[in-house]
Amino acid sequence: MFPAGFSYARAGSLADALSLLAGAAAADEDARLLAGGQSLLPLMKLRLATPHSLIDIGGLPELTGITCDGAGTTTIKAVTTYRALQHDPRVTAAFPALADALAVLADQQVRARGTIGGCVAHGDPAADLPAVLLALTATVTLASRNGTRTAVLDDFLQGVFATGLAPGEVLTAITVPAAPPGQAYEKFEQPASHLPLAGVCAVVTTGNGVITSARVAVTGVAGRAFRALDTERSLASAQPTPAAVAAAAARVGTGVRPLADQHASGPFRLHLAQVLTRRALTRAVERAGAGAAGPDRSDDEYRDASGTGRERR
Ligand SMILES: Cc1cc2nc3c(=O)[nH]c(=O)nc-3n(C[C@H](O)[C@H](O)[C@H](O)COP(=O)(O)OP(=O)(O)OC[C@H]3O[C@@H](n4cnc5c(N)ncnc54)[C@H](O)[C@@H]3O)c2cc1C
Repeated sequence: MFPAGFSYARAGSLADALSLLAGAAAADEDARLLAGGQSLLPLMKLRLATPHSLIDIGGLPELTGITCDGAGTTTIKAVTTYRALQHDPRVTAAFPALADALAVLADQQVRARGTIGGCVAHGDPAADLPAVLLALTATVTLASRNGTRTAVLDDFLQGVFATGLAPGEVLTAITVPAAPPGQAYEKFEQPASHLPLAGVCAVVTTGNGVITSARVAVTGVAGRAFRALDTERSLASAQPTPAAVAAAAARVGTGVRPLADQHASGPFRLHLAQVLTRRALTRAVERAGAGAAGPDRSDDEYRDASGTGRERR
């Protein structure tokens, strides 16, 4: 498949990209930013996207890189690739759940090109990282010719391929505050795309034998990644026993209208979300040092679709 005709411009800077976007808007042209191209180009080849022009921001030094401040806040510029994230020891040490997700996200080629900004801006309801970034309470920074604004990721994600990105804006960075070590991400993937049919990130803190805080976020199940607030509430001050974790996981679908397509029914996605929530919470509790939730690998509720185990690609 070949895309429809389009013009191409390489932005030399963020200001250049914003100016090119404004020029296209003035000419009433549909211009799209091109970062890693791992979502946009397949859509164009399938003619599901037919932009007049592409404005290439891939690899722009101004939009690339990772910084960590003294308070443990990490800022990841938008066109930082998955691979750069995966190989940054500051990221993998501070955010084990992000390392979990990157280890099972797509394949080496996609990770070499795909960017964190492109992932979040695309609004794919099945992308891995939005669940992790939601559980880590990330914010996004957006630039336009009128200035810069920030938005909480939970507000920025709006629905299926819908975000709070305004016309003429570029997502420039994602900021993640310091997080406790008790975090884990689990997914069950669609075997061809590797996108999660369901994916769950848990971030917990424990103290005095109880869970003192819990954040649980889910992707692949609904129109956008979401926080499982009922699950989180039921964990407050709970002892991290297998029974308490299972009871909390059973509530992960409260109020959710699950997606259904040719890959998985709604009830199956909800079932996966429950299993994965239990697994993610169990590993997060173990990493938090509490460990009482115990091993969670003996059941046979689902099998790895590829059968080859984690960190396989
Ligand atoms: C074979 C294959 C397997 C995949 N498997 C997975 C998987 O297992 N898990 C997963 O989560 N994803 C998977 N993906 C999807 C992929 O990870 C991401 O969607 C993709 O990398 C998005 O980032 P990008 O830089 O490539 O964005 P692009 O494709 O360049 O852009 C995507 C969209 O975002 C917009 N955009 C990009 N950057 C910005 C920005 N800075 N500001 C504003 N708008 C912007 C573009 O205009 C476009 O509309 C897979 C993709 C492929 C091709």
